[in-house]
Amino acid sequence: MLELVYPTIKQTLDATHMITGDQEKVRKVNRSLILNTLRLHTPVSRAQVASITGLTRGTVSNIINVLMEDGLVFEDKLQDSKIGRPSVLLGLRPDGGAVIGVEIGVNFISVLLTNFVAETLWEIRAQTTPAQSQTDIINQAEKYIDRALTIAKEHGLRPLGIGAGLPGLVNVRQGNLVVAPNLHWKNVPLRLIWNQRFHLPVYIDNEANLSALGEVYLGIASNVDHFIYLTSDIGLGGGIMIDGRLFRGGHGYGGEIGHIQRNPQGELCGCGRIGCWETQVGPRAVLRRVKKEFETHHDQSLLDACSGNLDNLTFDMVVKFALEGDLICRQAIEEVAVNLGVGIADLVNIFNPDLIVIGGAFIQGKEILHSIIEKTIFSTALQPSTDNLRIEFSERDTEACVLGAVAVVLDDILREMVIN
Ligand SMILES: [Zn+2]
Repeated sequence: MLELVYPTIKQTLDATHMITGDQEKVRKVNRSLILNTLRLHTPVSRAQVASITGLTRGTVSNIINVLMEDGLVFEDKLQDSKIGRPSVLLGLRPDGGAVIGVEIGVNFISVLLTNFVAETLWEIRAQTTPAQSQTDIINQAEKYIDRALTIAKEHGLRPLGIGAGLPGLVNVRQGNLVVAPNLHWKNVPLRLIWNQRFHLPVYIDNEANLSALGEVYLGIASNVDHFIYLTSDIGLGGGIMIDGRLFRGGHGYGGEIGHIQRNPQGELCGCGRIGCWETQVGPRAVLRRVKKEFETHHDQSLLDACSGNLDNLTFDMVVKFALEGDLICRQAIEEVAVNLGVGIADLVNIFNPDLIVIGGAFIQGKEILHSIIEKTIFSTALQPSTDNLRIEFSERDTEACVLGAVAVVLDDILREMVIN
């Protein structure tokens, strides 16, 4: 008999495909339910899987047998149950396969190779330069993916798929990067390119979306259904999780919080519009603020640190000098903190999240940013919306997106069983 039990929020990250209708879909949903239960509760007995999923023990056993034949699930008969007799516990097999996560940033490429339980086997993060062409950067990423595939082979692991995060608007269904303003890329069919190059399933998405997914799967938001992830590299990106699912909007372009207009008389944004939020709070905004302030308040120690040229100043340096007490740098970071807090308060009023996770370049300045952002949000947003709100900085630092790229592959496998 086929059963269909709708997964709980924590058991599946995206229920887009959980539509009843035919037996194949029911079978997929049930397999997905069981795989996600094993992911979240390893090690777990068949009876516990049945209890957690609401499926009958017969259905659970049948599906587990198939998953074991597929090499995705192990059973361990050595552990004793609480009632004293041997119990058979199940879990996902680390050697169930290899997953490759990729992030192409504005000035770097990250590639991460993991096993089936998302343990890192190999990783690389390399700088790119604005002088590199789109083809050159994609070729560079492909070389790293080739290396990851070789290492997976050396580990005896079959590759399951490639996930990739990009800094722009992505049509997830088509696997097409529509536009990446800060990279100056347009209409790049990356999924097709890499499907043809690697003959593997390829998933591409916006970097902030994948970072949010990474925090759910492997980070600070694993038990939170309503949260917003904010990240800044050059621009400002957001990933919005509602009811444990990534909010994408009608065509996948939702969540572009960096381009909310906050100052119609402000600076020109990379998107071509004026006064977007990211022009107030991104690292570029901080550098601009410091340079402007320097015009009226000469700061010799700052100039010396930049070898006499403020164009050498980086966001990391501003944070460092701010922490060391440099007034201009500290004021610039504090101004960003207030602007971030005011904007986040609007998001809190709209989405009523339980958690805000701040990642990317902001993490370096968290000692200054955290308390000011928190204070601004709690004094600006409507009070009932902040009753259960926590503000945290990502613990994954620069890894969040590439982990999310791994998570999106695993999520799809756990959800759809795309492998042969
Ligand atoms: Zn913009």
